[in-house]
Amino acid sequence: MVQQDMPKALTQLGEDEQIFRDTVRRFALEKIGPLVRSMDESQQMDAALIRRLFELGLMGIEVPEQYGGSGGSFFQAIVAVEEISAVDPSVGVLVDVQNTLVINALIRWASEEQKRRYLPRLSSDTIGSYALSEASSGSDAFALQTRAAKRGDDYVLNGQKLWITNAKEAGLFIVFATLDPSAGYKGITAFLIEKDTPGFTLGKKEDKLGIRASSTCELIFSDCAVGASQVLGEPGKGYKIAIETLNEGRIGIGAQMLGLATGAWGHAARWAKERKQFGKPLAEFQAMQFQLAEMATDIEAARLMVYNAARLKDGGLDFLKEAAMCKYFASQVAERVASLAVEVFGGSGFVKDYPVEKLYRDAKIGKIYEGTSFMQLATIAKLTLGKL
Ligand SMILES: Cc1cc2nc3c(=O)[nH]c(=O)nc-3n(C[C@H](O)[C@H](O)[C@H](O)COP(=O)(O)OP(=O)(O)OC[C@H]3O[C@@H](n4cnc5c(N)ncnc54)[C@H](O)[C@@H]3O)c2cc1C
Repeated sequence: MVQQDMPKALTQLGEDEQIFRDTVRRFALEKIGPLVRSMDESQQMDAALIRRLFELGLMGIEVPEQYGGSGGSFFQAIVAVEEISAVDPSVGVLVDVQNTLVINALIRWASEEQKRRYLPRLSSDTIGSYALSEASSGSDAFALQTRAAKRGDDYVLNGQKLWITNAKEAGLFIVFATLDPSAGYKGITAFLIEKDTPGFTLGKKEDKLGIRASSTCELIFSDCAVGASQVLGEPGKGYKIAIETLNEGRIGIGAQMLGLATGAWGHAARWAKERKQFGKPLAEFQAMQFQLAEMATDIEAARLMVYNAARLKDGGLDFLKEAAMCKYFASQVAERVASLAVEVFGGSGFVKDYPVEKLYRDAKIGKIYEGTSFMQLATIAKLTLGKL
């Protein structure tokens, strides 16, 4: 007898989730698909596409309806990132940072006044960025140097951030700075900084290997003064905000890499069925079938891990280990599957006329941002070995 409260299979979606997934999938194929190559070549996110993402509610998925958002779940945000990344991981990371880092941080830590001020904008027309990394602090994120000094009621920021996703298009930045470097991580404070704040400018935009349509820029703060109302959470609690949001964000990167792998597999499988050598389609050779079967198995395992981590998060259960594992594993799968997809295409896989070389380039970032693979392993080791 099946018990009423038996959990469903991990890959089974509720009715609303299925409708949502199908809508995002269709949108990605029809509206993003035709733009992928030109956006990659021009290193620009299409402005009309960004407007459409807002119109579809994909930029404020978890924002409660009372603040103008879609009132969805974290799982839905993950499905959106997966589906979009199957077509273009650059657009996937735009949606991912907005939902799983910026909006997540605001929902969890913003005051009521800040929520009323920013969540409707983030849901309707404002892109968010999340600025933690600096030139000398990447994996060791809390060694950051950007200073925030108290001056009367204001805080004055000085310093530089590096590698900030969405920065070129963003209107709101969550910026981590230290009030007191001698206090270590306990001095770190998160600030909400608007694009036009005096003393805040964008620096160099990076010219990247992959996800080229996604902007990655330096941020420069030079006597940038903001009021105390711009502190997110409490002074000195920035490290907690960063740790907690990045734990969730990692599932988003897992979803981005899962989507990328799914997209690459689809291209490879279709190619194998169409391309003929030795008088028959490649897909009729067992060696080819086995490669595609192995890729599909890897993708299924990554999907189970990503979905499980997202379901745990939505269920209010511990998900730290699962988040680190799913990011670690999905980024390996993405690199492996995209690489094999290039080989399945043969020479055509190596040129820009076909989509797989871009996915291969895009896959590399999964092992680097939001905690490198080595950092994920360190977390996994702590959470597994530490429990013995
Ligand atoms: C395209 C892109 C977008 C990004 N977007 C953002 C963003 O929006 N916001 C943001 O704040 N940051 C962002 N980042 C920064 C990203 O999170 C960092 O690049 C990443 O955390 C790694 O830091 P690092 O580059 O300083 O490398 P390092 O920390 O210098 O690491 C270099 C190598 O050393 C290894 N390593 C480091 N410490 C150890 C150790 N203790 N043991 C073993 N190995 C170790 C690492 O795993 C890695 O292999 C982005 C980066 C890129 C490339």
